[in-house]
Amino acid sequence: MTSPDNHVAIIGAGPAGLMAAEVLAQGGIRVTVYDAMPSAGRKFLMAGRGGLNLTHSEPLPQFMARYREAAPKLHAAIAAFPPDALRTWSEALGEPTFIGTSGRVFPKAFKASPLLRAWLRRLDAAGVRFAFRHRWIGWDDEGRLAFQTIDGTKAVTADATVLALGGASWPRLGSDGGWASILADRGIAISPLRPANSGFTVSWSDVFRARFEGQPLKGIALSFGLHRLRGEAVVTQSGIEGGVIYALSAELREAIAVKHEAVLHVALRPDIDQLELARRLSAPRGKQSLSNFLRKAVQLSPVAVGLLQEATINAGQSLSTMSPERLAEFINAVPIKLTGVAPIARAISSAGGISFDELDADYMIRKLPGVFAAGEMLDWEAPTGGYLLQSSFATGAAAGRGALEWLKRYLPSLRASSSQ
Ligand SMILES: Cc1cc2nc3c(=O)[nH]c(=O)nc-3n(C[C@H](O)[C@H](O)[C@H](O)COP(=O)(O)OP(=O)(O)OC[C@H]3O[C@@H](n4cnc5c(N)ncnc54)[C@H](O)[C@@H]3O)c2cc1C
Repeated sequence: MTSPDNHVAIIGAGPAGLMAAEVLAQGGIRVTVYDAMPSAGRKFLMAGRGGLNLTHSEPLPQFMARYREAAPKLHAAIAAFPPDALRTWSEALGEPTFIGTSGRVFPKAFKASPLLRAWLRRLDAAGVRFAFRHRWIGWDDEGRLAFQTIDGTKAVTADATVLALGGASWPRLGSDGGWASILADRGIAISPLRPANSGFTVSWSDVFRARFEGQPLKGIALSFGLHRLRGEAVVTQSGIEGGVIYALSAELREAIAVKHEAVLHVALRPDIDQLELARRLSAPRGKQSLSNFLRKAVQLSPVAVGLLQEATINAGQSLSTMSPERLAEFINAVPIKLTGVAPIARAISSAGGISFDELDADYMIRKLPGVFAAGEMLDWEAPTGGYLLQSSFATGAAAGRGALEWLKRYLPSLRASSSQ
C-alpha cells in the first residue's frame, strides 16, 4: 500500500513533470515538484504563443507513425493517454479544444496561460508542493538528490524520483540538457541531444539577406529526396526556418551530418503546372522590369523573385535570358543549399535523450531503481503538430503511474528489509 508519507520528488515543472505530479497526487502520494526556474511551465507558455497546438486529431496509427522509430516504444503510453483523453483533460480544466483545418487541436482560448493556471490550481488543491529556483545537480555521496538553491546546496530524500527535465532547445526557458552528463556519468546511454524542428543555415548574399530577412515564403512546396511537403517557410538572417522546414528537419539534419550540406528544391507556385506557367511566362514583357513581370504573370512575391535571382546567380545563370519553359521549370524547383543546422537553442525541440533501452515498461531507469524519466528528455522526436506535447503529457502520466506502482510493490518490502 502507498501512504501519504511516501514522498516523490519530481524534477521539472513542464508538461511531463506536472502530469506525473497529477497522477501521483491522485494516487495519494506526497509530491514535490522541483524546478530550476522561478515558475512552472515556461516552455509550455511559449508554445502557447503559437496558439498551443496540444495534439492532433488524426487516427492513432497515423498519429503514432509521426514518432518514427520511437513509435513502438511510445505506443503503450500514448494509447493509455491518447489525444482524446488529452482533450477531455483540457476541457475538465475549463479549456475546451477545437480541431483546426489542418487537423491540429488547440484550446479555444488559443493560448497556454489559462490552462496552466487552472492546472496549477488543481495540483495545489491536491497537495502538490513546488520548490522553484532548485537546480538539480545530481546525487550526493549519500544518494540524496542535490539541488543548487539561492541558499546553497540542498539535499533531498525521496522514495522515488521522476526526472522530467526536458530537452535542450530554448535553454533560457529552463531546459538546457545539463542533466545529460549527470546521467551519462551513471552509465546511462544517452543519444546526443540534437536540434529537431529546427532551421538551417544558408549562405545568403548580403543583398538578399538585407532585403528579405524575416519575409515569409507562402504556399510553397519543398522537395528533398522522396519527400515533398507544402507549407510556409521564413528567410532568416542566417538561413531558413518555418513549418515546412521543421517537418523535414530530421531528414535534412541527418543528410547534413553525412554530407555537410543538403540541397532542397522549392516550388514557388506548386499549384500551377509547368505548361501553364510557361504559357503565362511567354506573354510579352514590354517595358516591365523582370520582377514586375513575374509578380503579375505568375503572382510571385518580391521574396520569391529574390530567391529565384539568388539561385540563378549562384548557378552562374541569368533569369532574363531563360526561355519561358526553363523559367517555368526553375520557378518550381529552386535549389537552396543548406550548409548546416541552426543552433539547438533556436530549435523547437530536441532529438536524442535517454535511450529507451535504459527504461523498463514503467519508464523506470533500470540502472537507477526508483528513478523514472519522462518527456522530451527521452530519445524520441516528432514533427510539430501537437505530437511533442502529446508525448510529453503521455510519458509523464506513464512515469507517474510507474512510480505509483513501484511504491506499492517494492517500497514496503525495501523498508521491511532495511529495518531488520
Ligand atoms: C517556441 C516553441 C513552441 C512550441 N510549440 C509547441 C506546440 O504548439 N505543440 C507541441 O506539441 N509542442 C510545442 N513545443 C514543444 C513543447 O513545448 C515541448 O516538447 C514540451 O514542453 C516538453 O515538455 P517536457 O515537460 O518534457 O519539458 P519542458 O517543458 O522543457 O520542461 C522541463 C522543465 O525542467 C526544468 N529543468 C531543466 N533542467 C533542470 C535542472 N537541472 N534542475 C531543475 N529543473 C530543471 C526546466 O526549467 C523546465 O521547467 C514548442 C516548443 C517551443 C520552444
